[in-house]
Amino acid sequence: MLLRCFVLFLVASTLCVQADITLVSEGRPSAIIVTADHPSRVVRYAAEELVHHLEKSCGARLEVRTESEAKLTAPPRIYIGASRAVREAGIDVEKLAAEAFVLRIKDDEVFIVGKDGGGDPLDADTCAGTLWGVYEWLDRDVGVRWLWPGELGTYVPKFKTVVARTCDETTALVLFQRRLRAGLGFESDHPALGFTTAAFKQFSNEQSVYLRRHRMGRSYPVSYGHAFTDWWEKDGKVHPEWFQLLESGKRGPNKKNGRFSMCVSNPDLQREVVSRWSAKRPPDARAPGFINACENDILGLCTCDNCRALDGAAPGDYLKFYTPASKMAGSRFVSDRYARFWLGIQQQAPAGTTVVGYAYFNYFQAPTSGIKLNSNILIGYCPSSGWFPRSAEEHAWMKQQWTDWRDTGARLFMRTNHLLDGYCMPFIFAHQFADEFHHAVEQGMVATDYDSLTGHWATQGPNLYTVARLHVRPEAAADEVLAEYYAAFGAASPAVKSYFEYWENYTTFSREKINQTMENLQASRWRSWAKAAHVLYPAECFTPAEKMLEQAMLAAGDDAEAAARVKFLQLGLQHAKLCAHVSARLTLATSTATKDEIKRAVDELIAFRRANEHSGIGNFNHLAWVEDLSWKLSEETRQPPDLYP
Ligand SMILES: [Zn+2]
Repeated sequence: MLLRCFVLFLVASTLCVQADITLVSEGRPSAIIVTADHPSRVVRYAAEELVHHLEKSCGARLEVRTESEAKLTAPPRIYIGASRAVREAGIDVEKLAAEAFVLRIKDDEVFIVGKDGGGDPLDADTCAGTLWGVYEWLDRDVGVRWLWPGELGTYVPKFKTVVARTCDETTALVLFQRRLRAGLGFESDHPALGFTTAAFKQFSNEQSVYLRRHRMGRSYPVSYGHAFTDWWEKDGKVHPEWFQLLESGKRGPNKKNGRFSMCVSNPDLQREVVSRWSAKRPPDARAPGFINACENDILGLCTCDNCRALDGAAPGDYLKFYTPASKMAGSRFVSDRYARFWLGIQQQAPAGTTVVGYAYFNYFQAPTSGIKLNSNILIGYCPSSGWFPRSAEEHAWMKQQWTDWRDTGARLFMRTNHLLDGYCMPFIFAHQFADEFHHAVEQGMVATDYDSLTGHWATQGPNLYTVARLHVRPEAAADEVLAEYYAAFGAASPAVKSYFEYWENYTTFSREKINQTMENLQASRWRSWAKAAHVLYPAECFTPAEKMLEQAMLAAGDDAEAAARVKFLQLGLQHAKLCAHVSARLTLATSTATKDEIKRAVDELIAFRRANEHSGIGNFNHLAWVEDLSWKLSEETRQPPDLYP
């Protein structure tokens, strides 16, 4: 419970159980933080995070001591992570599930204790239950909100007195993996358009911290991904029968180094998948076992009689939501053969082992032959269409596919590529995204793996905050989540809300135009959006938005923090407008720009990026990657950014 003033304190003290604990009183520390004598890295970091946020709230810096040092100190104490005192209090850390934590606040003692690993606290593979406990408490009792990476995006309400509210509970996470791929690996042949080394370092550090604050990580390692990409090279000569049969009667890829799918009905292939997994699995392995059986990054194409015999009837709406240019056009519906493939592997695998497959391309819709799967089959929901914004009908269809797979008895995880969309434009679809997320959670979602966070925080903030926040509060309505985001803008909150509503409406109403333009300009939603940015975001669409942010700035008044956040949005908008302007000149779809014109356009853009690359408005390396595939560029920008111009 946080007390803004004395009046509230009176109300609170009569309403609350007496055992609430005051941690900071009138701006002065009244508690100390205590760790084990040899705390793990996770525990040390969790304590630092607690100190940092409390100081940001009330200016008081709590001391951190080991329990030996703290022996003679008067309570109250905040115990962070496992320690002797924790054991004496009867909290058995060993019995906690991975990443789970205990939050116990009573009798002058606060315990925030979780199941932790020994690794780097910022590594997604390090279990960090104690850190999750600290964030949960900061979120709940202090009202901290992490809007975007970095200090400006960290909203901490200001208080003079901070009280920890009585509770005693153990929290386990609903999703065993929460993953928003960080998008830090984009590489461009024109890196001058991206970050300098120093700016990239800052951007990636701040984003890594941010993702952990939203509890991104996993309880145990899970391996999956296109599983057979190197099999032809290794096994094609000896075992061609494991690979797709082409119409020509040949097995394997249809051209040298081409992609290929497998002959999934082949029982020898299924056996081989299990035996290769078993050979690699350490005999003393204790973590749950996952066998990767995700098809390669291609449609299921085997034409052999045995594979075809497994196929169910294609649903009537099988190709309804794919364009004629889609790889899906003319394809055969093959989900049943894949379901039987996964089931065949699972039945031969050791008990308790999970087989992972992707529902993708022409095996995205659920099987129709009536096959029943089970909870040891984990399916990644990976549509190759369904970009946001969707029509109501398409959105319902996408959700139905989840439901239908769920009805087979398999467990499901979200493995979509939709977040790669939108370039750095103010492209907002937060409500529709939240609706899909809620649907999946209600229908048994066990994990996520979103590809990818493109990190355009200043123009796509409401999308990104919604994605991150729903991982922590899966039940929260989109409007609740967005209200948290807007609230951080103080008196400018209503104006900022109107601003993003303008863009969400704009995005929604542009749906057909986006689809059509992408097709006309042969632009890809995830690779070459900047071919089309100027058509979808012409200069005139920015004018009302700029006015709204001017209003927001006026409303922020002398609240420096709110004004700085509005300024951050303004920078993002200015940059987006500039990118759309450059797209018009350089788009590969139509550009006739000369070398000089290219240079002028990119110099203006690069100058803007250099001036603002420490602001955190967006991931410029992602943009350099998209722009390389979208624009007519010349040799100059092939230089590293640190050397350009
Ligand atoms: Zn086959």
